[in-house]
Amino acid sequence: MTGKPHPTDLAELERSALEAALVERGHEAFRAGQMFRWIYRRGVSDPAAMTDLSLELRGRLADEFVLTTPTLAHRETSADGTEKFLLRLADGRHIESVFIPDTPSMTFCISTQVGCAMACRFCLTGKMGLVRNLTAGEIVGQVRVLAAALDMRRTRFNIVLMGMGEPLHNYDETMKALRILADEHGLAVSPRRVTLSTVGLLPALERLAREPIMPNLAISLHAPTDTIRGELVPLNKKYGVADIIAACRKFPLKRRSRITFEYVLLAGVNDSPDDARRLARLLAGVKAKVNVIPLNAAPGIPYERPSDDTIDRFAQILADHHLTVSVRKSRGRDIRAACGQLIVEGQRKSPGQQLAAAAFSH
Ligand code: SAH
Repeated sequence: MTGKPHPTDLAELERSALEAALVERGHEAFRAGQMFRWIYRRGVSDPAAMTDLSLELRGRLADEFVLTTPTLAHRETSADGTEKFLLRLADGRHIESVFIPDTPSMTFCISTQVGCAMACRFCLTGKMGLVRNLTAGEIVGQVRVLAAALDMRRTRFNIVLMGMGEPLHNYDETMKALRILADEHGLAVSPRRVTLSTVGLLPALERLAREPIMPNLAISLHAPTDTIRGELVPLNKKYGVADIIAACRKFPLKRRSRITFEYVLLAGVNDSPDDARRLARLLAGVKAKVNVIPLNAAPGIPYERPSDDTIDRFAQILADHHLTVSVRKSRGRDIRAACGQLIVEGQRKSPGQQLAAAAFSH
């Protein structure tokens, strides 16, 4: 054996795992709760500063553990109060997280991957391809950084997994992150205040239905038929509209809770009165609410935002069919923090991306 063993990264540990790690090193298990309170409630990363631990223990912990935290590379505030955070990870990759104030509550929009493999045709992040999954510590780390930067450790906030990435494509780390976030000694963010948004990875959705930790569910549907959806969401070729809706019908919902169906409205593609009626028929009998998201247009995105009249007419037809509808006000468009606009330029390309770029370049 040469040198010291690698210190363990506290950011990646659920409290039960921290207890085990402490016991293994001859410390008491209950120290894990104390350390969680320091890390998550007070933002202390250095065990030397955890002053309710003995001086001797603090010294040993400092040798045995580290706490990896994303660093804040850039912060931008939108005219509407939305704030976009560019965070740098330990390996130099970047991700974005967004703070959306008073919607009516405070919301953190968090990423689960660097880039995304789903390649939805109207989404900028989808253009990056998947660079890599985030670890649970990096997912929770975004919340730690935002709560600290916004001085919100003692404020209630909601979390939406609607940043970069497809959460169900990074299933294990995402669920582990939700368990760490929910810990009563830590940030204690109840899963009821978390919304997981997915494009509909069916096997993972079925697995989610059996989880003890159950976030709210949002499905990125975007079209009432396979013909239209297949054009927009490549994954639809594998898991089609009927299968997704069948899984939603079976999904265990708490009393009064509903599934949100997100519908990005694209001019001339999925915004006709017929589309609205077909959507209403599709969702009949599903405990649903529909979130209509007028496209945030961007260079490189081959679609346009419908007119306000078209948006209103679409929403009205759904409402006439007794669906709960909201039209998402776009937040942070001036700083490109709006839905589907999270992309980090100048990322070194992953081997997968280089391959993909080569395949599409002719
Ligand atoms: N991959 C997950 C999580 C990302 S959520 C999912 O697809 O649900 C991002 C939300 O923003 C999704 O509903 C997505 O469809 C939507 N979105 C993506 N690009 C957009 C754009 N250009 N304008 C408006 N909404 C967009």
